[in-house]
Amino acid sequence: MSRRPVAQLNLAALGHNLQRVQQLAPASKILAVLKANAYGHGLVKVAQALTAADAFAVARIDEALALRTAGIVKPIVLLEGFYEAAELPVLLANNLQTVVHNELQLQALEQTALDGQLKIWLKVDSGMHRLGVAPEQFNEFYRRLWQCPAVQPGIRLMSHFCCADMPGSDKTAQQLALFQQLCADKAEQCSLANSAAIICLPQSHCDWVRPGLMLHGISPFANQQGQQHQLQPAMRLSSRLIAMRQVQAGETVGYGAYWQAEKDTWIGVIAIGYGDGYPRHAVNGTPVWLAGREVKLVGRVSMDMITVDLGSEPTETIGAEAVLWGPELAIERIARCADTIPYELLCNITPRVDYQYISG
Ligand SMILES: *Cc1c(COP(=O)(O)O)cnc(C)c1O
Repeated sequence: MSRRPVAQLNLAALGHNLQRVQQLAPASKILAVLKANAYGHGLVKVAQALTAADAFAVARIDEALALRTAGIVKPIVLLEGFYEAAELPVLLANNLQTVVHNELQLQALEQTALDGQLKIWLKVDSGMHRLGVAPEQFNEFYRRLWQCPAVQPGIRLMSHFCCADMPGSDKTAQQLALFQQLCADKAEQCSLANSAAIICLPQSHCDWVRPGLMLHGISPFANQQGQQHQLQPAMRLSSRLIAMRQVQAGETVGYGAYWQAEKDTWIGVIAIGYGDGYPRHAVNGTPVWLAGREVKLVGRVSMDMITVDLGSEPTETIGAEAVLWGPELAIERIARCADTIPYELLCNITPRVDYQYISG
């Protein structure tokens, strides 16, 4: 048995979830978003598993180069784009496509002589106010890009929703209308939808959808779980029960004496903590799946351990397997108990965790 917490990654679940995207957006191509180590699932392994994706997107150039080094040949898009002109030959040499979202990038493309042409995704700020050119500048950027010798004909157009995970949001409707209006007079491929919009806003699917979280079987909506959208969780994070002890009513457990036993009970100690990426802010009562039943976290999360209430007559023995999230226990529930989102839990898993890949 592994001495470390284990993140088991089910590659078949990834394939299934990609199929779900295809079912939901049958007319669209799929730009699978693999930033942040494929949401903590392992960049290269996930890319290799997603054979049916049309292209991959990452945030930064080093993520793209890691994919190329591993032999991934599908198109790769840099969502943050390049940072300086010196990177342009690297993009060309590695067949990387880039988002263009500001004037400096446009000028770099205009002023750099390249031995070939780059595929560009022009990003408009339709309301997120993070990256993207202002709507008033969009046509001007589009026209100048078309004139750039370094730019491949056929400029893809994109934008990003800020509130797609809040169904019925006015903001989403406004962003969609603005984007459609800006694209209407251009015969270009367009892209707008993240996971939330793929699931609940079919009119936003356009030519390319950009799923991230849902590929891992997780719902982007705060009060839902992946299985409600016929998604399968790809990750199962587990560890082991390493100690059990009795405490009496009134005794406290863990740092800060943060939890006090109301009655006599058994406490189980599980070898996982915030040093592995388990959220330190998980509250008393956060569920843990222990050898076939749900028990509750009690006391503060430590660096290497958590404590759970086993009740007065536990049947578990030391070495029992504990699942922190996975098919038995939805990560969406854990995120709520830790006042965060599944995205952050996934990104926080540390290298102390042993990654094991299975295919079914
Ligand atoms: C992260 C990201 C996505 C994917 O978002 P999910 O909510 O994980 O589906 C899509 N587009 C852009 C620009 C992103 O940054």
